Amino acid sequence: MNHLMEQQYEKLGISREVYRFGEQIEASLAERFDSFDRVAEFNQLKVLKAMQDNRVSAECFQVSSGYGYNDLGRDTLEKVYASCFGGEDALVRPQITCGTHALALALMSNLRPGDELLSPVGKPYDTLEEVIGIRPSKGSLAEYGVTYRQVDLLADGSFDYEKIKEAIGPRTKLVTIQRSKGYATRPTLSVARIGELISFIKGIRPDILCMVDNCYGEFVEEREPLEVGADMIVGSLIKNPGGGLAPIGGYIVGKKECVENAAYRLTSPGLGKEVGASLGVIQSFYQGLFLSPTVVNGALKGAVFAANIYEKLGFEVIPNGSESRHDIIQAVTFGNPDALIAFCEGIQEAAPVDSYVTPEPWAMPGYDSDVIMAAGAFVQGSSIELSADGPIRPPYAVYFQGGLTWYHAKLGILKSLQKLKERNLVNLDRLC
Ligand SMILES: *Cc1c(COP(=O)(O)O)cnc(C)c1O
Repeated sequence: MNHLMEQQYEKLGISREVYRFGEQIEASLAERFDSFDRVAEFNQLKVLKAMQDNRVSAECFQVSSGYGYNDLGRDTLEKVYASCFGGEDALVRPQITCGTHALALALMSNLRPGDELLSPVGKPYDTLEEVIGIRPSKGSLAEYGVTYRQVDLLADGSFDYEKIKEAIGPRTKLVTIQRSKGYATRPTLSVARIGELISFIKGIRPDILCMVDNCYGEFVEEREPLEVGADMIVGSLIKNPGGGLAPIGGYIVGKKECVENAAYRLTSPGLGKEVGASLGVIQSFYQGLFLSPTVVNGALKGAVFAANIYEKLGFEVIPNGSESRHDIIQAVTFGNPDALIAFCEGIQEAAPVDSYVTPEPWAMPGYDSDVIMAAGAFVQGSSIELSADGPIRPPYAVYFQGGLTWYHAKLGILKSLQKLKERNLVNLDRLC
């Protein structure tokens, strides 16, 4: 036993019992961690190749202002994203304020009144309900005459091909496929499964656009959805691809026409990608993308560590401790609001920023129940940084993600366990 290390953890409030339990779990994960390291290595090379092929230079880091005409850094970064993710073109902008905005932009710019949108993978992420108009909202797609259909996954998590086929009609223009589970307790989709679904849809009508909500999925596998037939992938820069350094932003990568439509909607018809000053944040977009594969690696290790800890303690965890990984989110179902709150308090206490504040449930815009969020992040709301959140509703599942380093993720999980133990919500006695 390494006593110096144990003492260091003790200084951060981790008892010997919790530390030793964590060490047991970590020791059992050596092989998994090794396989994550191989994926990170592969993706690091992918990013480097994209940067070299597109001749990223020091000039790319210059600040543009005003209209932002001829912003070399912005235009080159978009080429880098296109190369890296396998698209014809990309829109990567600080003017895209968050993931929901990027998704709304992709949808609203590629759909027209009278078109129908289909989700063949069940209910989309909470904030998209208002974008689509599932929950009535000002400016929703529904207000503009775009209708919506949804086919749920079957009970075992597989695609309901029969119903999907029935749901595709002459007005179906775009299919939205959410890679990550979001706030649902369904499995996350692997890139291979996304590919199967896209092949099925294109087999019925090849002109249907397939968009993938790629949030939390970037760099988790060697392949990305554009490599298996998607027309567009969409995500947030304060998640995986920003590597923790991008302070804002979103991206759309894919077919030239899809990206063009989005650009004309983001700025203006006629202007498109030509305007949009980068105001000095572009260097952090490059550096964040460069670091992203290793940051995602740390986050994945944290997720699997948490899964194995809480599984051993008898909680339902999704994905389970041994399943393959397709995003960085780990859900733990506590079935009890006190445990959900204790978990989030532990994550907060482990943070480098705001470690002294206590998170409380509140009504967040875009969500239909109170949500508790733990985040002591350098970038507000960044969920590639160690963070946990969960809606205060049964089954009281916490969704845990991120960690710019594995060591920070590990401390956060041990802290959460410490909190649960202190409140007698778990019992470690028979385990170590
Ligand atoms: C985070 C997320 C979004 C929305 O992103 P915000 O940046 O929070 O607006 C959409 N879909 C999925 C799957 C997400 O994880």
